[in-house]
Amino acid sequence: MTSDVICPHCGALRNPMASTPAWVCPACGRKYYEPVAGGSGGIAMAHQSRWPKASLKQWMMAGGFLLLLLPALAIVIPYFGAPREAPQASAERPLISPFELDRAGVHLSCSRAVRQMLIAPGTAKIQLDVYVYSGSGTANGYVDAQNAFGVPLRHNIHCEAQKTGDAWVARAEIRRPGV
Ligand SMILES: [Zn+2]
Repeated sequence: MTSDVICPHCGALRNPMASTPAWVCPACGRKYYEPVAGGSGGIAMAHQSRWPKASLKQWMMAGGFLLLLLPALAIVIPYFGAPREAPQASAERPLISPFELDRAGVHLSCSRAVRQMLIAPGTAKIQLDVYVYSGSGTANGYVDAQNAFGVPLRHNIHCEAQKTGDAWVARAEIRRPGV
């Protein structure tokens, strides 16, 4: 730029031999304008893109790199166990089958019925084998629990459960072994 530069702050005419950057007034030290990053100081630079334009070849190389990266990630990620259980959990496909739900329903209702018969249900450890039919189920096993004197006792369990709606109603018998 060969035209004269006059500082808008102090009005000094810039000496072409001045040692300050092109956007800094050598007289008062203030900036004529804000320099553009990467620019050489000319005002025209302010209107140019700050990002160098990538060539077509560079874009194609970047795309090729991504195409290579994606299969690599697909191979590597399962080994880190990241999205193991995430994908197909949807409302249409429950994680627990209706059969397993019924098994759990019989087990839960029978365990509850047994605990209601115990003096110290908090001490009970219940072991049940559950059988499920359509709309009903049975559970057989035993319970270890303390009696009124704090003595641990084992009782055998026989329980029958009926499904009404979504709820299971159980009727349990407990019996001392050999009695
Ligand atoms: Zn100045």
